Amino acid sequence: MVSARITSRAYIIDTVGMGNASTIAVYVVKGARRTAVIDCGYASTYGNVMQGLRQLGVEPSRVDYLIPTHLHLDHAGATGHLLRYMPRARVIAHERAVPHLVDPTKLVESAASIFGEKLVQMYGKPLPIDKNKITAVGEESHIDLGGATLTTLHAPGHAPHQIAVLFEEERLLFSADAVGMVFPAFPTLVPTTPPPSLDPAKLAQTLEMLRQTDPKMLLVPHYGVRKDVNLVLDRTREKTEEWVKEVTRLNGTHLTPEQIVEELRRKITEETGIPLAAFPSYVLVMIRASVLGILAYLNRASASTASKT
Ligand SMILES: [Zn+2]
Repeated sequence: MVSARITSRAYIIDTVGMGNASTIAVYVVKGARRTAVIDCGYASTYGNVMQGLRQLGVEPSRVDYLIPTHLHLDHAGATGHLLRYMPRARVIAHERAVPHLVDPTKLVESAASIFGEKLVQMYGKPLPIDKNKITAVGEESHIDLGGATLTTLHAPGHAPHQIAVLFEEERLLFSADAVGMVFPAFPTLVPTTPPPSLDPAKLAQTLEMLRQTDPKMLLVPHYGVRKDVNLVLDRTREKTEEWVKEVTRLNGTHLTPEQIVEELRRKITEETGIPLAAFPSYVLVMIRASVLGILAYLNRASASTASKT
């Protein structure tokens, strides 16, 4: 089963990114008149999203909105591919995301510099999107699906071009990567702090803003439905602070970035008792990305202090 019901109007599709179940979700909201798809997954898994939609009784040609929450390839990669089968769909994205949806060249280069050419090839190439198909949103916007209202909220920190989406009537919050990774097959939260544009202070503000929306459930991209909203928000804040502190400390030693990654993996083993050999491969990849993101942030922060003095 690729897709499942969350409520009578909200659904989850498992994109099975890189062949791994329960790691990258796409969500669907069906209003009385219109249907929205929140996040799109990797370009290489757009077929799974199409299949999931059909399982839900949604013909792709009848989708009205595609809402990639931000540009990262596991969220926006499939947008242009899906759009080919969705002639009436509009893409809703943050205004800072729009230029890179229109021309994804830099996006792919940036991902390749973080994850390596080989992985990025497996993620699949995003297709350029016609600018006329995109509606840019800023701080807040509302989408009427017919008895179901989606509010998009600018949610920077993880990335400056990120939005979260609140399904107002049911108070379901599609959190995007503002919350940490809570994989069902891995018992601890991993911070979502990859390069190139992490900003921990903005991330903390975004978490508080999201808490104020008083959601009943979090719909987490990585991965799934969480009713323990405050716990997940608290853990995200705590773990992110803890990792930033630890990576800052290790960055002041002789260790290389890859050795710092190893230290953080060791720390998780100590906390959870799970041996490194039992970490799923996607967790190893994400831990590395999150550590590199914090290091990139520290480098930017020290460069800007140096330029001020
Ligand atoms: Zn992301």
